[in-house]
Amino acid sequence: MAKFVLVAGGAGFVGSNLCRRLLDAGDAVLCVDNLLTGEMENIAELIGNPGFRFIRHDIIKPLRVEGRVDEIYNLACPASPPRYQKDPIHTFRTCVDGTLNLLALAEAKGARILQSSTSEVYGDPEIKLQHEGYRGNVNTCGPRACYDEGKRAGETLFWEYGAHRGVETRIARIFNTYGPRMHPDDGRVVSNFVVQALRGQPLTVYGAGLQTRSFCYVDDLVQGLMRLMASTEKMPVNLGNPGEFTMLELAEKVLQKLGSDLPITFMPLPQDDPLQRRPDISRAAELLDWQPTIGLDQGLDKTIAWFAQRLKSDRMKGSMVS
Ligand code: NAD
Ligand code: UDP
Repeated sequence: MAKFVLVAGGAGFVGSNLCRRLLDAGDAVLCVDNLLTGEMENIAELIGNPGFRFIRHDIIKPLRVEGRVDEIYNLACPASPPRYQKDPIHTFRTCVDGTLNLLALAEAKGARILQSSTSEVYGDPEIKLQHEGYRGNVNTCGPRACYDEGKRAGETLFWEYGAHRGVETRIARIFNTYGPRMHPDDGRVVSNFVVQALRGQPLTVYGAGLQTRSFCYVDDLVQGLMRLMASTEKMPVNLGNPGEFTMLELAEKVLQKLGSDLPITFMPLPQDDPLQRRPDISRAAELLDWQPTIGLDQGLDKTIAWFAQRLKSDRMKGSMVS
């Protein structure tokens, strides 16, 4: 039977990919977004779909929804460091007040609710492979704290509503995800490198580029989120691709794929930038029968092709305006 699904943050990168997958599965989707980092362009082709509705709303304010809601995905929150650091108090309130408002809605509607938490709850991890039992190494007084601590508080709120108020809660700890519908000026590393290379600009590597990340293609993540929602697991589950790369390796891969000899510019490493990150996904494998299927090479090819189209269409729109 078709479900009524609310996607908060549905006009953003992950959210807009999720909305498409839910509609394809026959569900009705209510997308709630304040368009802070998301764009109407991400959902433009969904607007005419009879199963899709969009409400512009900031989740830090209570949300009233008429009728049935079966599931809520909370993806509302800027995810890119420069974006979430622009208005840190608003980011923190999105993670805390916004999450509370959605939990209250889930309780009122009897809906199941999934929180998009993050590998950032592990902060700058002291262990090479981060498993869900690791309690993390987060700086509470620094530029990343509004996001990291906000997401940690969000998990606590989820746990309380799940353990003591009878709400069906799910918590996904998402590791770095990339792919189509990232904003070209989002500021995260994959979109930065791909867009810089396509524009013929030097690639900006922060620090010596030896810090590592594990990159998950968005289609794999969306499948993991839907499997987690369908499961019975209330405790946090890591979702990510365990392949681990330095930022220099990533830059070289992007340049090699575009056959480019653009230079690399080294820039200062931002404060509290984690040195390493790699998910232990054994719980996701066991509980959800989930593992990523798209490696970095294949995912980057798809992402580069999408950004090439996007930049071309942006240029055409720009030339029509001027
Ligand atoms: P994004 O910035 O592209 O999307 C976030 C969306 O939420 C945007 O459409 C934005 O306008 C909306 N939003 C922000 N604050 C809001 C508010 N107060 N009220 C209503 N809407 C609001 O980011 P994303 O990469 O799509 O991330 C989605 C979620 O997944 C976020 O919660 C993020 O913390 C989490 N996450 C993402 C990654 C990743 O690598 N993409 C990693 C870990 C966690
Ligand atoms: N980074 C980089 N160049 C960029 C953007 C980011 O070298 O243009 C680095 C950043 O310092 C970090 C890594 O890439 O070590 C991942 O950054 P991102 O903002 O994508 O995600 P997060 O730091 O939240 O994992």
